[in-house]
This record gives sequence, C-alpha cells and structure tokens, in this order.
Amino acid sequence: MGRAVRAGVKACTTTVFTLVLVVQAFPPTRGLEADALWRGAPQLQWSEGGSPAVAQQPAPANPLAPYIKVQAPVIALTHVRVIDGTGAPARDDQTIVIRDGNIAAIGDAARVAVSADATVIDGTGKSVVPGLVMMHEHLYYTTGPGVYGQLGVSFSRLYLAGGVTTMRTAGNLNGIMDINLARRIAAGEMPGPYIDATAPYVNGPNAFLQMHAVESANQARTHVQYWQEQGSTSVKAYMQISRASLKGAIDEAHKRGLKITGHLCSVTYGEAADLGIDNLEHGFFAATDFVADKQPDVCPGQGRGQQTIAALDENGEPFKALVKKLVDKHVALTSTLTVFETFTAGRPMPPGLDVLTPQLKASFERAHERANQNTQSVYAALFPKAMRLERAFAKAGGLLIAGTDPTGAGGVVPGYADQRQVELLVEEGFTPVEAISIATLNGAKYLGRDAKIGSIAVGKQADLVLVDGNPAATIGDIRKVDTVFRQGIGFDPAKLIESVKGQVGIW
Ligand SMILES: [Zn+2]
Repeated sequence: MGRAVRAGVKACTTTVFTLVLVVQAFPPTRGLEADALWRGAPQLQWSEGGSPAVAQQPAPANPLAPYIKVQAPVIALTHVRVIDGTGAPARDDQTIVIRDGNIAAIGDAARVAVSADATVIDGTGKSVVPGLVMMHEHLYYTTGPGVYGQLGVSFSRLYLAGGVTTMRTAGNLNGIMDINLARRIAAGEMPGPYIDATAPYVNGPNAFLQMHAVESANQARTHVQYWQEQGSTSVKAYMQISRASLKGAIDEAHKRGLKITGHLCSVTYGEAADLGIDNLEHGFFAATDFVADKQPDVCPGQGRGQQTIAALDENGEPFKALVKKLVDKHVALTSTLTVFETFTAGRPMPPGLDVLTPQLKASFERAHERANQNTQSVYAALFPKAMRLERAFAKAGGLLIAGTDPTGAGGVVPGYADQRQVELLVEEGFTPVEAISIATLNGAKYLGRDAKIGSIAVGKQADLVLVDGNPAATIGDIRKVDTVFRQGIGFDPAKLIESVKGQVGIW
C-alpha cells in the first residue's frame, strides 16, 4: 500500500522531521464500494420487518487521504514561476513558503530562507497561480430532457482537480445538497473547493420540473429567509421573475448580508441594476434590454434577446449607456463562455468528456455534431460579439468575473471547463495574466474575501495551483495541473479524477 511519493517532492533530511506524507489509504478504483466517502456513509440495511435500519460503519481516519499528494506543516515551493493573480507580470525563480495553510514567505529563490523542517518541492519548470475562484458553477448537470442530475460529490472532486479552490454555485436545483456539501468540505470530511452555496433559484412561475416559483415580493423574501436559515450563503434570481419579486429578493438578501445574482430575461439588466442587484450572469448573452417590444415582467424568449445582442453595435450609445449604468452601480458581470462555446459551430470538442458515463459522453457528442451542422445558428455571430461586449464592460471599469455553467446540452465538465474558461478569456482579448486575474482575484473581490484568497501574497491562505510550463506565455499550460493546494494541503488531480472517471452522471 502507498505508492512512492512522486519524484520532485523531497523532504529535507533533518532531525525534527515533521513531514507527513499521506499515503493512499485506499487505492483509487472505479467502484463506488471502494470509495472512502461511501464507506464512511451509513449503510441502509433491511431489518426483519422490512423497514430500513441504519448500521454505522467506522469512518476512515482522514477521508481526504486518498487524494492528498503532500501535507506538511511547512512546505516550500522552490524555483517556481509566480503568476500572482493581480495581473502583474510573472516572476521567475521564486520560492513560496507555506506554513500552517497560509503563505508565510515569497520572493526570489536565492533570497528566501527555507527552514530545515520544510518539505521542499522543486518547482523548476513549473508555475504557480492562485487557486481559481469560479463564480458560475453548479453541482448538477443536464442528464436528460429537462432533468438535472445531482452530481455534487463527483463535481466537487473535479472542480478541485481542475484548480478551483473556491466556487459559487450560481443556482441550486436540489435544495439542501449544495449546502451540505459546502459544510462537509469545509469540515474536511470531503474533498472539494470552498463553496459559496446559493439557495434554490428564486424565480417566477416557470416550466422547470425542479424549480420553485414565487409570485410576490413577500414570497421572494420568505424564500431568501428560509434558505439562508438552512445555510445558503448566496442567492440567484432566474429568467421568469417579476421586478416586484426580484426587488423583494434583493432587499431581503441585502438585509441578511447576502449577495444576489441573476440569470435574467423577464427583467432587463438595466432594470435589475436599478433594483440593486449585485451581479448578472452570462455576460450580455441573457440581456433583453434591446428587445424593441419587450413587455415589462415578461421574458420575450432568450432567443429574441440573443438576436438583438448579436446585432448590437458595441460602439453605439444604447450599449455604452447600459455599461455605464452597470459600472456606476457596481454590478459585476460573470463571463460563462464555456457553455456558449458548446452551442457554437466550428469550436473544438470540450475537454474532460472521458470522465462522463458513456451515455452522457455519447449524448454530448451528438449535440456537438448538431451544433456543428447548424449553419443558421445565432451563435456564429453572437459568440464573438458577446466576447467583445464583455471586454468592453471590463475596459469601462466593470468587475468581470468568470464561471463555466455546466448546463446546456452537456459538455461543460467541471474543472476542465474552468481551465477552458480562462483560455477563452484570452481568446476574448485579455492577456494570460489578466485572464488569470479575472478567474482568481476578481472572484475573491466579488465575494468580499480578497483579504484571504484570490492572489498570491504573504498572509493569504495557501490556495495555489502548481502547473507544468508557463501559462503566462501559453495559457493552455493551465491545464497541466501538478498539485492543487487548498489551505496548504496539496491534492493530487490525477487521483481525484481517477476516483470518478466514467461515473460522472451517476453521482
Ligand atoms: Zn447556470
């Protein structure tokens, strides 16, 4: 048991040797029964009378152990290139010292003293970026027509494997699962990123099988209150909400210290900004502000809005006025190019499909083929236009944040898609270090957590991603994740991925 620790990780040979290299307690297998968390869960058994009785099995000592590559009180990453998340140029040949989960020192490798008790990881040829702070994530996935499977356990592992150390779920279709996962991950009982867990969507009357409906400001307030009491730390409004209900949700969220975002349609971006919303999802892809015959409180159809965005003049006064309003009112905008890329002809197959169940993989491959053959699609014009609009918003001083949105017809695979989103921000026109800053520090600023996370600086939490190569020059290197540090614990992406491979779609 316990494979040899990878080359590259070596411990200083000294007397006080506090290094704890956590070996694999359970070799990763594909069987649920071999999964550490499953082992620790209560097992249902049938008793004589036919009613289930719960037999508690002993939990493993450290349920994270199967996924940990390095854990020690003091870790030094030496000779690494540092891309610090602020947008500053990369710095070569640096040393980062992690002590008790925080960044204790950083500077030129020749000058930073590495104490004798440190576990040293030689990072020559590697780079360190902050852990990604991704703002439009979900713990569910499109598993059938109008059906969203709850995949929070596998998804949290994939997010972490992809370098995501903090995420917001931008909408919840399961009720309590987002909240429980957030708690259990925070308690060290399950692997995954820190989760800002949204309440179930606050929406007006709608056709979604798994979505509640509120019909008044009071009902919206009650919804926000109830879910905050259950543990939600964030709110998201959705496409059919009325202005009155949205106002109720915004006021109640703010009264309770929560932020509220929206994927809107019935309410325009301008109206929502006036009502006090904090964030709008999907760049300008969901804006209905420019639909000429838009009726108040009615969604004219997302497609109608998208036609107007595809045709919008990014240098025209109407768009500039909307951007000015959003910037003046401090409304953040979330870029989710990854989901829209799956609808756009001629785009590459998205990464990560191999972790899906064979059925879901095949289902997405068919969707990708259909998208490629749809020459009439609005996305041919919309996708590049929406990129330019997002960039204009950022250039005007708006807070652009990043997410992936694993919905649509599938193919947006957690972790892999988060890396892809950073690549797409570079395609949008940002430099690699700017794109990394959008996907790290900007998210932290939105969450109000930038004193602790989002960039690489002394005193901050050691949420770091060690990658091969140099993403400041070649953004695709952000996919070459070697180790993901969350609060100083180094997780092995390969083990996290292997533990779910082929099963994403079931759990
Ligand atoms: Zn979403």
